Amino acid sequence: MDKTVYICTGTCKAEISEEQYKDGLTKCGTQGCTHFGHTFEKVLNCHECGSYYRPGEQHSHLA
Ligand SMILES: [Zn+2]
Ligand SMILES: [Zn+2]
Repeated sequence: MDKTVYICTGTCKAEISEEQYKDGLTKCGTQGCTHFGHTFEKVLNCHECGSYYRPGEQHSHLA
């Protein structure tokens, strides 16, 4: 099962857990980040390759 996480798509590339997001950490607070103040994007973190993909997006390791 791939994990749901929230990421900043700006320059800080912060990764927020679902727990942290539910606790109110919903926006980037990194000074100087290009997405400072923007809401994090909900993505899935592949447990096999570690890359992020959007819910509903195809993600596979077929060669
Ligand atoms: Zn950021
Ligand atoms: Zn993968």
